[in-house]
Amino acid sequence: MARRAHLSLTVRPMPTFAASPPSTSEPPAVKPPSRASLRALLPRTARERLYEWHPGRARRWRRYPGLQHLQVHGQAVLTFDDGPDEDATPAVLDALERAELKATFFVLGSQVDAHPHLAREIVARGHELGLHGHRHERHDRIAPDLSREDLARGFHTIADLTGVRCRWFRPPYGKSSPAAQQACAELGMQVVYWSAWGLDWEDVGVARIVEVARGQLDHGSILLLHDSACCARRRSAMPTAEAIPLIAQHARSRGIALVSLREAVSAGAMSPA
Ligand SMILES: [Zn+2]
Repeated sequence: MARRAHLSLTVRPMPTFAASPPSTSEPPAVKPPSRASLRALLPRTARERLYEWHPGRARRWRRYPGLQHLQVHGQAVLTFDDGPDEDATPAVLDALERAELKATFFVLGSQVDAHPHLAREIVARGHELGLHGHRHERHDRIAPDLSREDLARGFHTIADLTGVRCRWFRPPYGKSSPAAQQACAELGMQVVYWSAWGLDWEDVGVARIVEVARGQLDHGSILLLHDSACCARRRSAMPTAEAIPLIAQHARSRGIALVSLREAVSAGAMSPA
């Protein structure tokens, strides 16, 4: 197990990520006519190739810095976005317990509002909550005041209903803005992106999720998965729950412990800047 974690705040190419995450992180926004909505018309296999083509991502993430990958050996961070909800969050929690893993859940304030008992269950089982916004907004497309309002509302909803003051904010679609960055700083949070994923917002099966995650997971990775299908192209997030033991098995075979972001950071010699 590594004892030192140096946290990288800049985008840099990861040699193991032949299929590294694209700029359009999660399900593309649906309104109005855009490259994202046009992409929705394509077959999934074609969309997958487009996800891997991300010329704007590095530029955007340099402009709005956040954690993408930790300089640590022996650990990778496991994260789940868009929850909580009744569909798959309980199954994800059970799968994590069986695999003896801890994770960071980037929850939506609106989902916490609707399912506060699940948010509290995540905390009770030793996992960490991060903020994904109150609603699933594209902050690069909404007015600055709406952006600030969304972060504050989500942050305080989670604090009120769970007692947790989030340390991390993951912008939906990986798209931040000056207003979101400022609100994030004012609320005492740091932006977190990712460096690996399971393509699990698409309607793919367990085997594909595992295949993609295995191909991208490495020491220091921040792995993006979803415990809710509320903002996805699929009806249920259960395939993600079913993929957890297989991803965990693969990580173990490579000597990588899957942990929450809190755990990875606290184990390191450095705190995030
Ligand atoms: Zn999301």
